Amino acid sequence: MLGAALTTIAATTPQPLYQATGWKAETNLGVYSLAPDPYQIVFADTTTRDQLTPYLKMPALQVTRQVGVTLTVANQIDTTPIGTCPDRHQIVVHLAYRPTGKPGMSIAYPCHAIADGSAWGGHMVIDTEYWTTTSWFSSDAGVNEARRRDTVTHELGHILGLAHPNQDLNGDGTVADGECVHTATGLRPVMCGPNRGNPVQVSAGTGRTAVSGMEAGRFSTEYDLPGLRQLLANYTLRQN
Ligand SMILES: [Zn+2]
Repeated sequence: MLGAALTTIAATTPQPLYQATGWKAETNLGVYSLAPDPYQIVFADTTTRDQLTPYLKMPALQVTRQVGVTLTVANQIDTTPIGTCPDRHQIVVHLAYRPTGKPGMSIAYPCHAIADGSAWGGHMVIDTEYWTTTSWFSSDAGVNEARRRDTVTHELGHILGLAHPNQDLNGDGTVADGECVHTATGLRPVMCGPNRGNPVQVSAGTGRTAVSGMEAGRFSTEYDLPGLRQLLANYTLRQN
């Protein structure tokens, strides 16, 4: 009977999970989990703080309330240079013109704890041209603001350990931009690359949907939030 009991326990012990429908862990960058103790968002300078604080409050609150990891948007200025990991659990936000050299691309540099592969914090650099180039995304102010919000949350998701969940859904051998699972109403994961899978530039009047308007800048309930919760669960599961 003992043998049977042990078999049952082994079969039901949860294992760490690194991808599921609509989300994927950033294991290629060494991030396997999200630590349970608090993280803090700080800023490279006051201009960035003033401009981006409003964009970061909602996703930070989602992580705090809906994932269970306290994520605070602080007033603090942190001058740790990009390329150097900041203090543990600090997420430093920067603004820069075309930080990758490519038009419209923002970038995240996630760090990880070497001891356990948990998300450490890091740097995220948001492209300024979303604001400085007139009608960068579209001629629709609502679309433009939704895309800005999605981008900021998307880069934050990378720091917290989420990769692009894009996959070859149509079987043509290529994992394309925007090729991600979506809900019946067309909502894709905010981590769908690039920028929720929405084109950087959309024709006037065609880019706005009720979905993007309501969901702008939110980690999706269907995909991103379950992924972040699993990353948190992985922290404990990986200690075993
Ligand atoms: Zn990305």
